[in-house]
Amino acid sequence: MKASLRSAVLAAGEILKQADVGDAKRDAALLLANVLGEDVGYLHREPDRILTDNEYQKYQELVARRAAREPLSHLTGHREFWSLDFLVTGDVLDPRPDSETLIEAIVSAKSQGFNPQRVLDLGTGSGCLLLTILSEIPAATGVGIDFSEAALSVARKNAHRLGMETRTEFRRSSWDVDLGEKFDLVVSNPPYIPSADIAELQPEVRDFEPHLALDGGVDGLDCYRAILANIRNILRPGGQLMFEVGFDQAADVGKMMEEAGLSQPEYHKDIAAIERCVSAFLLD
Ligand code: GLN
Repeated sequence: MKASLRSAVLAAGEILKQADVGDAKRDAALLLANVLGEDVGYLHREPDRILTDNEYQKYQELVARRAAREPLSHLTGHREFWSLDFLVTGDVLDPRPDSETLIEAIVSAKSQGFNPQRVLDLGTGSGCLLLTILSEIPAATGVGIDFSEAALSVARKNAHRLGMETRTEFRRSSWDVDLGEKFDLVVSNPPYIPSADIAELQPEVRDFEPHLALDGGVDGLDCYRAILANIRNILRPGGQLMFEVGFDQAADVGKMMEEAGLSQPEYHKDIAAIERCVSAFLLD
């Protein structure tokens, strides 16, 4: 089969469109660029280049997997978050633009003098929150915990790739972690999908992402309860707690934070104007 880059991308785009993939053309192009080890611009510069049999076959395999709704990041092994490149596998949640809301909130707090030295990330997954925060606050160091050893191994690789090995530690633990240290900043994007809603998620998430990172119990709020019950063991008085929350959970989580002895919360909106991050300080 002799296909040019242009015709291969067009055909793949059609297949992905038929499979209801959201951004079929973009994914078709990104997958081909990935097979060729090039950027997407290369496809535009060399549209008439003919694929080798090997490249063609590899591409068809990836397109078939994407058509079966496997996430793009699992096929390329990467995902960009806050302009940093993260390794991603099926053992971790795919870093999402929603979670950049929490980073934005930290950057804005920093411009007003917030300067945490020690950061704890609960349920770190790929490490994307902790590592991105440390990239914005070069003097800080931190710990990421996760219940999944497989996730921790992805996080450690990301720390290494981003040159932050010596500034980070990754440990296996549940929410009731006690490291004998109280941190200046605790962040978490815990599992928050109500159990009964998991079946309704898009196939990329439902069928390929770890349910351990998604399922927040009957009302989706179990992990917030567990973290807040332990908050005085991990956050110093005056320190800040920042949660990512589900689309309709901000008010409930904010109330739970106040009940747990935190200050009146601030709510931060994502690009879709949804209150996606809730932050507050631990009172003495
Ligand atoms: N934002 C994710 C989703 O909607 C869920 C992430 C989480 O549970 N923390 O698929």
